[in-house]
Amino acid sequence: MEENIIELKGVSRQYDTTLAVDNIDLSIKKGEFVTFLGPSGCGKTTTLRMIAGFETPTSGQILLGGKDITSIPPYKRPINTVFQRYALFPHMNVFDNIAYGLKLKKVVNVYEDAEGRRVEKKERLSKAEIAAKVEKALKMVDLEEFEKRDVTTLSGGQQQRVAIARAIVNEPEILLLDEPLGALDLKMRKDMQLELKEMHRKLGITFIYVTHDQEEALTMSDTIVVMNDGAIQQIGTPLDIYNEPKNAFVADFIGESNIFSGTIVGERKVKFVNRVFDCVDDFPLNEKVDVVVRPEDVIVTPPGEGYIDGTITSSIFKGVHYEMAFTVGKTEVIIQDTVEHKVGETVGIKIMPEGIHIMAKEFVSNKYDGYITKHNTVCFAEGEFECDVTTLVPGSHLDEEGYLITPEGEKLDLTDRDVEVEVGLKDIEIIDNDEDGDACGSIVSIIYKGDHYQVVIRTDEEEEDFVADTEYAWNEFDRVSVKIPADKIKLKFKQTEKK
Ligand code: ADP
Ligand code: MG
Repeated sequence: MEENIIELKGVSRQYDTTLAVDNIDLSIKKGEFVTFLGPSGCGKTTTLRMIAGFETPTSGQILLGGKDITSIPPYKRPINTVFQRYALFPHMNVFDNIAYGLKLKKVVNVYEDAEGRRVEKKERLSKAEIAAKVEKALKMVDLEEFEKRDVTTLSGGQQQRVAIARAIVNEPEILLLDEPLGALDLKMRKDMQLELKEMHRKLGITFIYVTHDQEEALTMSDTIVVMNDGAIQQIGTPLDIYNEPKNAFVADFIGESNIFSGTIVGERKVKFVNRVFDCVDDFPLNEKVDVVVRPEDVIVTPPGEGYIDGTITSSIFKGVHYEMAFTVGKTEVIIQDTVEHKVGETVGIKIMPEGIHIMAKEFVSNKYDGYITKHNTVCFAEGEFECDVTTLVPGSHLDEEGYLITPEGEKLDLTDRDVEVEVGLKDIEIIDNDEDGDACGSIVSIIYKGDHYQVVIRTDEEEEDFVADTEYAWNEFDRVSVKIPADKIKLKFKQTEKK
């Protein structure tokens, strides 16, 4: 049975108003190469520092080999850290930098006295012992000939090797590495990745590695812990995480992905980009889902032979394949092919059911594409709604003619401006007829959520959905209309530039 070396139980760390780490549960097996992966500020360093003992959790427990070490100081933990900035002593040569910790260290030696009794003595390491350990560590990082070199004359990569040697010379059970390759150039980074992996194999100890670089995580790790906003999003092997992302955040963070909003419209049938696709996942009817499609899973066909035709709108050569944007209406699909299709060319695309990954969506608000009318109302989801257009520009107001005046005094004509509209689930009022509201449709789903119903109203033509939380039970197929208070319609100018 594989043994857990480190366990985090409900670990949180609060700084003033920032919850840097939010209730993390995690087990790390002995000898594993584990990587914390996530964007800057997601809590990776804080988690690592708590494992090292430089930081104390505000709540929760850290166990080492089953024993609580939450309040044990760093130097009493069998753990060493390699930091992003290598922090070597500039006035010492390579040997002394590595030997530094060993010179301070005391080890317990056992002797027999004259009467044959066992005596334990705490002693410093001998010069020869230190030299042997330093030599071994230098060999591990491939710097055998560098003992006498001044550290300031070394390249960035060599300095980082010294920092790694300094950490492993103490023979820790766990090595923590916080973005150790962050300061190196790409070529050096790639080489060091392979070397670190090899080092991990030779040392046989546990590595906990931190990076924001997904490729690095995928190359090096046995296990990846994807983090965002102080919380764990997914734990798995690189293959699991790549092939079966648990949510849209993971899918987006790991590799190039297309993420679409979809709706389940039948048994293993999902609708997105306005088409129905067969898929392999079972989800309840009418469930709102995120659909992830990897660019390499999109098959390019001659026009008319795929499921959808569209136009190639960009193409970049990526070394082995071309990465191209395929556009149909307002939707863009990133595709990959070893054959280039020129910008402007019409092609078809196909996606096999196995290439469609479906994830439950935490549905928190309704989002629509809309536009402002000349009466300063907003049209979306086949309806026209009263709204407050001054919320589009903070501090603005309307003049008598209805033009928007910005705080700088600029006059804006909003007619036909594209906007993003957001409406909360609780802000939609359902009306028992299809005349009195501002948009109408039919109820296609009612789900009981414990203390309220979640109702989906689908419009007739464009099949847009209003998802509404209500305390009233409605019936499927009821014809209804919806009303939304003007101050509950959130507006944002649509970003037109593409990334
Ligand atoms: P990462 O290493 O993933 O980039 P960190 O663990 O360094 O993230 O930081 C997580 C969050 O905690 C960030 O919002 C950061 O600003 C905050 N934070 C980290 N250390 C401190 C500190 N000593 N005091 C206040 N806030 C901090
Ligand atoms: Mg960090």
